[in-house]
Amino acid sequence: MLRALLLLPERGNDDWGSGDFGASRGGREHQGVDYAAVPGTPIASPTTGTVTKIGYCYTDDLHYRYVQITDDDERMHRLLYVDPAPGMQRGDIVYAGSIVGYAQNIAARYDAKTKHMKNHVHYEIRVPDGDSYVCVDPREC
Ligand SMILES: [Zn+2]
Repeated sequence: MLRALLLLPERGNDDWGSGDFGASRGGREHQGVDYAAVPGTPIASPTTGTVTKIGYCYTDDLHYRYVQITDDDERMHRLLYVDPAPGMQRGDIVYAGSIVGYAQNIAARYDAKTKHMKNHVHYEIRVPDGDSYVCVDPREC
């Protein structure tokens, strides 16, 4: 499996915390891994599968999008802060390495005078678990 996304450097730490899987976010844990990406960086699908969702990251700002690709094992690969590739639609088949979108400027949402965020793409894998799902570390899949 080609994991082009994983070739990007991890975001590491910034003023908002760690981009590592399982990092604390107050009362919860970070459910994915953040990969540093300047806005406009082409983002390749980490897996072959079907585009099952092109969603919105925030209800109060519809600019920020995510792309979800479901693989043959029903695992949902979510790439957040990604502008979907033009013309891509739910139901499309994509291949590992296919460009599915472009990194967005997520830092613009969180940057403040005293706190800065590194631009990144958030990658999480949701594995079905009964009526719900669990997130697993994408680096271990
Ligand atoms: Zn993240």
